[in-house]
Amino acid sequence: MANEVKSTCCYCGVGCGLLIEVENDRILGVKGDPDHPANFGRLCSKGVTLHLTDRTDYRLLHPMLRSERSQPRQRVDWNRALDQAAGRFAEIIRRHGPDSVAFYISGQLLTEDYYVFNKLAKGLIGTNNVDTNSRLCMSSAVAGYKQTLGADAPPCSYEDIALADCLIIAGANPAVAHPIVFRRIEDARAANPQLKIVVIDPRYSETAAIADLHLALKPGTDIALFNGLLHVLLAEGLVDRQYIASHTEGFAALEQVISVYTPAFVSGICGLPEYDIIRAARWFGKSRASLSLYCQGLNQSSHGTHNNAALIHLHLATGQIGKPGAGPFSLTGQPNAMGGREVGGLANLMSAHRDMANPVHRDEMARLWGVPSVPEKPGKAAVELFAAMKRGEIKAVWIACTNPAQSMPDQAEVRAALQSAEFVVLQEAYGNTDTAAFADLMLPATSWSEKEGTVTNSERRITHIRAAVSAPGETRHDWEIVVDFARRLGHRLENVLTEKLFPYACAEDIFNEHRETTRGRDLDISGLSYALLDTAGPQQWPYPEAASGGRQRLYENGVYATANGRARFVPVEHQATAESTSDAYPLSLISGRLRDQWHGMSRTGTVARLFNLDEGPEISLHPVDLRLSGLESGDLARVSNPRGTVVVRVKSDESLRRGCAWMPMHWGEQFMNSAGVNALTLSATDPYSQQPELKHAAVSLRKAGLPWPLVVLRKAGEGQFAALPLLEKARSLMARFAYASVGLYGRAEPLVIFCAAMPDALTEVELREIDAVFGLAEDESAIVYADQHRQISKRAIVTDGKLTGVRLAGETLAQSWLKESMTDNTLDATLIRWVVAPIGYPPNRLLEKSRIVCVCADITEAQLKREMSRGEALSQLQEKLKCGTFCGSCVPEIKRMISGQVQEAVV
Ligand code: SF4
Repeated sequence: MANEVKSTCCYCGVGCGLLIEVENDRILGVKGDPDHPANFGRLCSKGVTLHLTDRTDYRLLHPMLRSERSQPRQRVDWNRALDQAAGRFAEIIRRHGPDSVAFYISGQLLTEDYYVFNKLAKGLIGTNNVDTNSRLCMSSAVAGYKQTLGADAPPCSYEDIALADCLIIAGANPAVAHPIVFRRIEDARAANPQLKIVVIDPRYSETAAIADLHLALKPGTDIALFNGLLHVLLAEGLVDRQYIASHTEGFAALEQVISVYTPAFVSGICGLPEYDIIRAARWFGKSRASLSLYCQGLNQSSHGTHNNAALIHLHLATGQIGKPGAGPFSLTGQPNAMGGREVGGLANLMSAHRDMANPVHRDEMARLWGVPSVPEKPGKAAVELFAAMKRGEIKAVWIACTNPAQSMPDQAEVRAALQSAEFVVLQEAYGNTDTAAFADLMLPATSWSEKEGTVTNSERRITHIRAAVSAPGETRHDWEIVVDFARRLGHRLENVLTEKLFPYACAEDIFNEHRETTRGRDLDISGLSYALLDTAGPQQWPYPEAASGGRQRLYENGVYATANGRARFVPVEHQATAESTSDAYPLSLISGRLRDQWHGMSRTGTVARLFNLDEGPEISLHPVDLRLSGLESGDLARVSNPRGTVVVRVKSDESLRRGCAWMPMHWGEQFMNSAGVNALTLSATDPYSQQPELKHAAVSLRKAGLPWPLVVLRKAGEGQFAALPLLEKARSLMARFAYASVGLYGRAEPLVIFCAAMPDALTEVELREIDAVFGLAEDESAIVYADQHRQISKRAIVTDGKLTGVRLAGETLAQSWLKESMTDNTLDATLIRWVVAPIGYPPNRLLEKSRIVCVCADITEAQLKREMSRGEALSQLQEKLKCGTFCGSCVPEIKRMISGQVQEAVV
């Protein structure tokens, strides 16, 4: 008998509630929790496929240890693994002091996991070297809130989206990165004809398509734009002088700065029409309620804190904060980046939003933990942490649930740092991330559906999630691993407080201790318990003892979390990006996210249908820039700067500004033979938040000069997971090629697709080796074509009348139509010969391109185009094909197709 277990989606900070359907300790499916206030039953294409990732074959299931770097890791038991870890850490701490070790953890961890990591580092070992991948994502939002409002506390709720009359979306693309928030924006648009939406993004993103005004500013010029908006608000008398006088300080100094930010001046910096700047300011200033939503576009900048502050100023200057539908609302990237911050999961923080630099806060924490003191010396934030490792100052690092060998900027430096560390521990659910290659000890952790604990989403809402299935193999919960290690380490360090510091028997014990540290603080949750969260559902903080509910909106009384209760204006000025373009590196490279992938793809990269919209790594350029580079869409380009080179396919994209290139951040060495976009990004950081500028780097781009292509498409059998062993084998080939990528495609019988290119042709012997890897070598049914003169060689395998494998070398035109027809089994015997024709043009009847657009309803582009050609509107398409009626993530794409169809008709 199946039962349903309440949980949340483990991907983004929207924090959607889920019901996991379980039978006999196996997950049958997931659906949105209709009672969860974050999503009311809705899920996006990633959330709705979560159950398809719940296969343990490709998980890390046992501790693995290597005695020397040159040796392979061997399976060991937990005792040996943790004794070894405790021994190495103790020895290094004794020799070099507590700051010679570090912990680099993750916004994917649960709050309880985070809490014990912090207590281990700051309470037991005596180092503040514990930082997290939230540093790459939210630390400028934290610093921006603290500089202006006094506390790291987003003042708004999702409900404010429906109540706003003006919505500014800056440096965020919720249509793909926070799709369920975007559903709320679409609902607000439909319900409120007065609503004005302004999207600020160098790229005409999926979100920009819904905007009344798209401000396609030059990368890195956000402060100038926000100052310009404030200039217009001042000039037109749209600021609230009474609010400024009663509830803020520092406005006079900012007003002086703002005086030079005229629309003409800002237009020159941002590359925007003056009138658009004025129009956006008027909409914001005249609106009954103005709300801003923002994310990595503001945060991942060498002046990210001031990007945030400059936007928050607009709200403070107009009194558009602390009331329904208004306020600066930072969208959280990771599912529990907020929970991590609550327990002090950054090198400069301690539990309950306490600051490490504040001696009173340090004393409070020492008292709460029962230790003599907590360390005063600042810990190292992510970029500096890896730099210190490379310099030899940090000798042992414990990495949990994150993948710095892909996600950190300037990969060459980060990898050199990991290589130079004496001892690297990786605590992970997946064993094949890029970071795994550097780990001396790998510790298997439980994952999403196996864990119990709490998470906090973007709107300060805490959800108690429960384990739906048992822990597989020898995996342990993250908090359990930390506590076991802490006890062993404390014993070796002869710390008599160890047992007292880590007395926990379950996650709830940790939650209860964390709760006590928040008493009287801005995020006081002393009124919450697991039992209350179970009976009353997810709650927003603060929720002090004796409260009847959480607080939906902060600062309604105009009293801020500063010493004098006043919000602060900061005199912020425009600053250039850390790296400027030049003749040698003329393109601004910006990075972003795709609808169907998440972070480094360790989870989404196992689901074939999540590749159907965006199949492989690409870099997008404006068509004019592409032409000027001598390239055409589909060509391979070498993208370079002094930090590295990435070979990747180019794509023409009119949504970009001239001079900009855009690349998704998801692809790393598991899916292509380079470190991906972060081979090119730089480690310049914001001075207040230490967040690196992942959103901008100067690059050059030229044709790769790899004229000899190779493609393999291979079916591996029925079912979602049948292709994964073959995917692993394909990975092992990538290093042989100048360019290579692997991916999946399809639905019921997924394909593995391997693409590669070389300057010269491989020999027949080398091709046979490739064929052998994909099981194409010996089959007697093979149909072949070879033209030695033109260096073309093709091989196709037919099983039971169906095409099950193809290798194309030297000429690969058929790839584009083969993947569809192999997936759909639409090639009958008469058409199979086309596969090995000298030139792989598609048979006439397969000319129609047919990628999947709606993942949930399995609707292809061809089906949609067919219906659209009959003039069907979105609602009719939804009615007929059911596309866009499940998670809704494809709705922006369908709308774009409809508008493209209309434009084509007009032309
Ligand atoms: Fe998960 Fe999508 Fe909800 Fe984010 S918006 S939490 S990825 S279902």
